[in-house]
Amino acid sequence: MKYIYGPVPSRRLGLSLGLTLTPYKTCTFDCIYCQLGKTTVSAIQPQEYIPIKEILDELKSWLANNPEQTRQLNYITFSGSGEPTLNVKFGELISEIKKIMPVPVPVISNASLLDKPEVRQALLGADLIVPSLDAASPEVFRKIDRPHEGIKVEDVIEGLVSLRRQFRGKFWLEVMLVKGINDDLRHIKKLKEVIDRINPDKVQLNSPVRTTAEPNVLPVDKVKLNKIKEILGDKAEIV
Ligand code: SF4
Repeated sequence: MKYIYGPVPSRRLGLSLGLTLTPYKTCTFDCIYCQLGKTTVSAIQPQEYIPIKEILDELKSWLANNPEQTRQLNYITFSGSGEPTLNVKFGELISEIKKIMPVPVPVISNASLLDKPEVRQALLGADLIVPSLDAASPEVFRKIDRPHEGIKVEDVIEGLVSLRRQFRGKFWLEVMLVKGINDDLRHIKKLKEVIDRINPDKVQLNSPVRTTAEPNVLPVDKVKLNKIKEILGDKAEIV
């Protein structure tokens, strides 16, 4: 299988079959904590990186050959080995999947392209959006997410605010916290102001536990994580 991975049991999503919509590590970011290693293709312009017909054909074949697992599936998730919204046809792919199987489709995205109205429009077909936001200032954004030079954190934030207003489904914001990079409490208070504007259903706090793109990327300890959760308020949870 080239584009399908799993199904994987996930604490957040139940049994989820994953689809990747871009070639390996084609991303708008090069996060220091990325579990996939360094970004090999730094991109900003959406295109049909992988023809969605190829993804659909592979999906149909997997579903036909795995009837037992198909019955147990809770989700078909777009995430994979790069930023899924870089595939210009991802909205069409959501519609096509729903014609094959009535299963919810979540999209896990780094939110970098949400300033584009066509990307937000395509996301409206998803059932759950899990965007991430790790920084509230350009300095922290550059340090942790190492974005393509054309991406500004202010635009990412405005894109998130706009999408939240448009989208009626579940919207869970994920924040990856890295010790010494974005866990300073002044930064967390700034992040809280931004998150309040976005108004997600949940704020999921994460900290790296696996191998990361850069060495010495450390998790935030439990005590501080709990303090951050407290600052971010009732919607925040540690995952
Ligand atoms: S956005 Fe995701 S895939 Fe891209 S570099 Fe960051 S963690 Fe890796």
